[in-house]
Amino acid sequence: MTQSKGLVLVVEDERHIADLQRLYLTREGFGVHTESDGMAGLAAVARLRPVAIVLDIGLPGLDGTDFCRRLRAADDWTPVILVTARDEEADRILGLEIGADDYLTKPFSPRELVARLKAVLRRTAGPPGSAILGTGRLRLDPGRRTALRDGEPLELTTTEFNLLAHLLARPGQVFSREQLRAQVWGHADYGDSRVVDVYVSQLRAKLGDASPIRTVRGIGYSAQEPGR
Ligand code: CA
Repeated sequence: MTQSKGLVLVVEDERHIADLQRLYLTREGFGVHTESDGMAGLAAVARLRPVAIVLDIGLPGLDGTDFCRRLRAADDWTPVILVTARDEEADRILGLEIGADDYLTKPFSPRELVARLKAVLRRTAGPPGSAILGTGRLRLDPGRRTALRDGEPLELTTTEFNLLAHLLARPGQVFSREQLRAQVWGHADYGDSRVVDVYVSQLRAKLGDASPIRTVRGIGYSAQEPGR
């Protein structure tokens, strides 16, 4: 079991935090490359093709939100865990729809970081060779991780894709926010369920009138039965 689980890029300008992240991620079997500047971090993504990025928000050069936007604008969907200094920022991060897959608030335990990272990577991997999912106008291929709306490619983040695939794989079934948080994100933190609403609205914005997601009042969400 000496083979690396893949390279994680840590972009963090506080040396002691970067060192701690490196220590824990290395211990878990990941390779780690650190950068302390946003621009250097972005260059490292292109050069090193990491399996995931742990990205601080407050960075010299280019801050974490612009970093993430630029990455997604360049059609790079490497999973990103954003690290924020304050809890209030979390709303802003999600509200800005910058395409991050998860976030952590400082101070966080390195163990929490490892757990989030593993959950993000599990989601990214997806079930190999699974069947095409869809409701007519919308088609998802979980094996290839591609999405089509009316035959046109649709750009979805890892988390958006996984949430949509989870609902489409079980048409008609109603999920509470807590269930989705646990089953799609891999963890169900207390008070964190608004994240689900944010991702559902992002999906609806991208899918427009082809969205199969139905709000079930007082409960949660469901995808409508296919074939209609
Ligand atoms: Ca910082």
